[in-house]
Amino acid sequence: MTVQNLEFKTEVKQLLDLMIRSLYSHKEIFLRELISNASDAIDRAQYESLTDSDIMENESEWRIQITADKNAGTLTVSENGIGMTKDEIIEALGTIAHSGTKEFLAFLQSKEIKDNPELIGQFGVGFYSSFMVADKVTVLSRRAGLKGQKGIQWESKADGFFNVEEVDKEKKGTDVILHLKEDEKKYLDEWEIRGIVKKYSDYIEHPIVMEVEREKESEIKKGEKVKIREEETLNSRKAIWLKDKSEITESEYNEFYKHISHDFTDPSKIIHFKAEGTSEFTALLFLPTKEPFNIYFKDFKIGPALYVKRVQIMNHCEQLIPPYLRFIKGVVDSSDLPLNISREMLQTNRQVEIINKNITKKILDTLSDMKKNEYDKYLEFYREFGRIVKEGIHYDFSRKEKIADLLLYQSLKKPSDTHITLQEYVDSMKEKQEEIYYITGASRDEAIKSPYLEAFKEKGYDVLIMVDDIDDFIMGNLAEYKGKKLKSVIKGDISLDKTEKAGKREAEKKFRALLELIKHQLKEDVKDVRLSGRLKDTACCLVADEGALDPNMEKLLKAMGQVIPENKRILEINPTHPIFEAMNKVFEKEPKSIVLEEYIRLLYDQALLLEGSKPKDPAAFASAVTRLMLKDVERKGG
Ligand code: ADP
Repeated sequence: MTVQNLEFKTEVKQLLDLMIRSLYSHKEIFLRELISNASDAIDRAQYESLTDSDIMENESEWRIQITADKNAGTLTVSENGIGMTKDEIIEALGTIAHSGTKEFLAFLQSKEIKDNPELIGQFGVGFYSSFMVADKVTVLSRRAGLKGQKGIQWESKADGFFNVEEVDKEKKGTDVILHLKEDEKKYLDEWEIRGIVKKYSDYIEHPIVMEVEREKESEIKKGEKVKIREEETLNSRKAIWLKDKSEITESEYNEFYKHISHDFTDPSKIIHFKAEGTSEFTALLFLPTKEPFNIYFKDFKIGPALYVKRVQIMNHCEQLIPPYLRFIKGVVDSSDLPLNISREMLQTNRQVEIINKNITKKILDTLSDMKKNEYDKYLEFYREFGRIVKEGIHYDFSRKEKIADLLLYQSLKKPSDTHITLQEYVDSMKEKQEEIYYITGASRDEAIKSPYLEAFKEKGYDVLIMVDDIDDFIMGNLAEYKGKKLKSVIKGDISLDKTEKAGKREAEKKFRALLELIKHQLKEDVKDVRLSGRLKDTACCLVADEGALDPNMEKLLKAMGQVIPENKRILEINPTHPIFEAMNKVFEKEPKSIVLEEYIRLLYDQALLLEGSKPKDPAAFASAVTRLMLKDVERKGG
């Protein structure tokens, strides 16, 4: 057969053009692409050999061989896989097998890629990436399993054409020979090759072997060194996630976790499963024991590593996991995704979406099981990562109830080392109680002393204690649980007891004029002044409107540099407190009394202190208190 000179399809020409001209900095990936093709070719042969024993052709093992020939300046990747016929090779290495050729062409012509050739790497460049480092590529191939089949040679200098001719090839499979460009000869260096294989192809199941030169002690002449050549396997071949669970020891799992996470502590939980059906993938995921120090940093890498058929596509694929599970580490190996999937494509790929859904469900189910069956372990996990999981209530609307079931809180009635779930709270609600009450604060101690809880304590209502800065925001998002509204005890109006309503109306009548006076004096500071249903011993407190930010959240946002619109609070007065009885008396006698004005100011300052804020004028507050102390002492002394 004579040499046939054929022209590449337009899209290949353009791709090659770009590849050769580009300043792409990750040229080393060409080897990953070739090894991955080699591994696929073996997989196919392996599969066919199940029904056709001739495929093996007297060979005993599958292998990928890398040969660096420094004299010839060639790097060869050979394997004993399926091989190609002439027609197959023309089709495979003359066109682009992308489904959207038109889109691909448009992409190659876009300004975007011209300005930034790095983008081709993300698009996936396959076999043609060889031309980034080689000025000529020769492929020798012979299809396995076909009796009398000749070998075929394909060769191109990426000048728009390629040659094919029949040749003799003793062994089945394919050799890809790269004639390296003058300035890319570093890819002949053993350590360079070793590094690339380790980095990208370590988990390839088939051995990647290379002949290496080593100095050894001579067996003939003691003390003398001789150079010998020996074959070495470069990859560890340990795709631990593809092994059967029963074959993996806990320590193997732990070692693997440490390897991928750079964590020194064993993981708290291992999730290893295989999905079949609409999406075929294997996931090996780990729940760390400790929160990594950089989890709140901007550059924290999110997501498990993504492999496609044992070939690593990326170290961290954030599309595989929702951000509220960003502490999860591991590996996902898909059989459905294309090897050349780019970051852009990942965002819209349906398979990726299915994997994400599947993984999310599995992790949430695992957490739920842990809570039920390994409570202490769950509590440990929750202490480290609970705050992050909570974000899911905001971001993952469809799973909000499921995530809410994972939440744990301390409560007013339970000892400080006990946590309860929202369900447990609901189960022990008082007979006519319709809302789930919660209080937010910097700590349990602070929350528990809060005057906002007085009426709840007196009437025996339990209140959830929330100490995470985002809790109030999250509760606002959740809004209700099992049909019960979530209600902050420091916001909005509280009326625990219906029978108290009549008494409150009476008190309103009695204090109406005094309330007006207070409202008038504090009109710059508060939105309203009203009688309280939540106080028992404390004279007054400040409350936010229902739906407003609570003071903790406000402080958090301010600390993050956000501008918060001034949100005036409501001053609540305890009508049963004797101070108001006394003030009312003064008021009836002398409505314009200076004493009243000072008391109103002092009461407002106290309310500020109780919510964790500072009095408006701390010096004036301190001197007013001292003056009152002095008066009291004088009265007692006199
Ligand atoms: P992809 O592997 O993503 O399909 P490539 O450009 O890397 O894209 O390869 C194109 C095609 O060439 C492959 O789909 C395969 O059919 C064929 N091919 C490449 N390398 C080999 C090989 N070593 N053995 C058999 N076929 C191969």
